[in-house]
Amino acid sequence: MSGSKFQKAEKILLKNVTIIDDGYNEQKQWDIFIIDGKINAINPTSEKTDFNGAVLDLSGKLALPGLLDMHVHFREPGREDEETLKSGAHSAMAGGFTAACTMPNTNPATDNREVIEFILDEMKNHLFSIYPIAAITKDQQGEKLAEMAELVDAGAVAFSDDGKSVANSLLLRRALEYSKMFNVPIIEHCEDAHLVGSGDMHEGFVSSNLGLAGMPAIAEDVIVARNLMLAEYTGGKIHIAHISTKGAVDLVRQAKDKGIDVTAEATPHHFSLTDEAVRSFDSNFKMNPPLRSEEHVAAIIEGLKDGTIDAIVTDHAPHSIEEKDAEFSAAPFGIIGLETALGLVAKQLVKPGILSWQDIVQKMCKNPYRILGLEAPQIKAGEIANLTIIDPAGEWEVDKFNMKSRSRNTPFHGWKLPVRAFAVLNNGYFYLAEK
Ligand SMILES: [Zn+2]
Repeated sequence: MSGSKFQKAEKILLKNVTIIDDGYNEQKQWDIFIIDGKINAINPTSEKTDFNGAVLDLSGKLALPGLLDMHVHFREPGREDEETLKSGAHSAMAGGFTAACTMPNTNPATDNREVIEFILDEMKNHLFSIYPIAAITKDQQGEKLAEMAELVDAGAVAFSDDGKSVANSLLLRRALEYSKMFNVPIIEHCEDAHLVGSGDMHEGFVSSNLGLAGMPAIAEDVIVARNLMLAEYTGGKIHIAHISTKGAVDLVRQAKDKGIDVTAEATPHHFSLTDEAVRSFDSNFKMNPPLRSEEHVAAIIEGLKDGTIDAIVTDHAPHSIEEKDAEFSAAPFGIIGLETALGLVAKQLVKPGILSWQDIVQKMCKNPYRILGLEAPQIKAGEIANLTIIDPAGEWEVDKFNMKSRSRNTPFHGWKLPVRAFAVLNNGYFYLAEK
């Protein structure tokens, strides 16, 4: 990795920064001393320092423990024209993330030791950390379980057939039973394929208006209900991917009350947009699960607020311009999301007072790490400097032509977002995002 924006964090002083992490007074400013990629000391800001390294003045900026996006699709191996592990990492760093979990629907699928090892090897000695998620079933065909023990041994942190549900309930039962032995979650894309059929968007008023085939909310609800029952029965850990319906949020809330080992995630697009956006027929509004109606969006926001939804993830899904630039019903599902996530979180959740930055640290760092059974970064002397620095007054306009991702499929082009990532530090490196 070269370029002046990606440098060794040998001796850096982050000066006058507000720290958002447990135990810090947000009214105060701090100086964070970093030596050889580790936090050496954190002191209240003082005028005089005889520090002989690089000094970054971060007055007005916030330091968060490094954010983890636990649901992304980097297309390597298989579709390096859409995204590689490294271009995905750069897109994520520009968006303020220091780590991500890659979904296994690559080509070949991440269902064997070699692919996991390739991914980890590719990202060795990089600022950005990747935690691969392995397939539940061989080639994600839903027929035969992958070798779960071997995959965990190789470095898989969770299992998922994301892109579709495991339709066979017996297979999902076995997956939940085995995964318990390794204490890793099963991440389910909850969708009844028969109920969804060849739907292109949320089934409702707008789909009837437009004459597009609908994907009913109940297609998600029925699978969430089944999965929760199987998790209760097996005692396994179930994580509901990109939750999008009111019914599913209600089911997860009840299951948590009952003590079932369930967690859930939501995406910025599912709390920022409704199916009304599809009236444009722009395929950048086509995703799976689809953009839902107002009542579902309100339920997602309520679920984020009351803790039913533990994590915010992007489901970053790059597609080539040729494929996405098609008639709505012919275009593939999915949008890129890493470079707009923080700004959307700020615009839709923090600015309106729904969540605080402290809550965002929980949903984009601490909870994702906890769900995966990994230790979350802390802003503390002696720890690795794994930090996300954001500018809470850094309004910017989304320009899809000026993104680090290799793909351009964002529905947020032209949006003004109130907050921007300023820098990230991790694994002995730091990276300054463009202003
Ligand atoms: Zn996904």
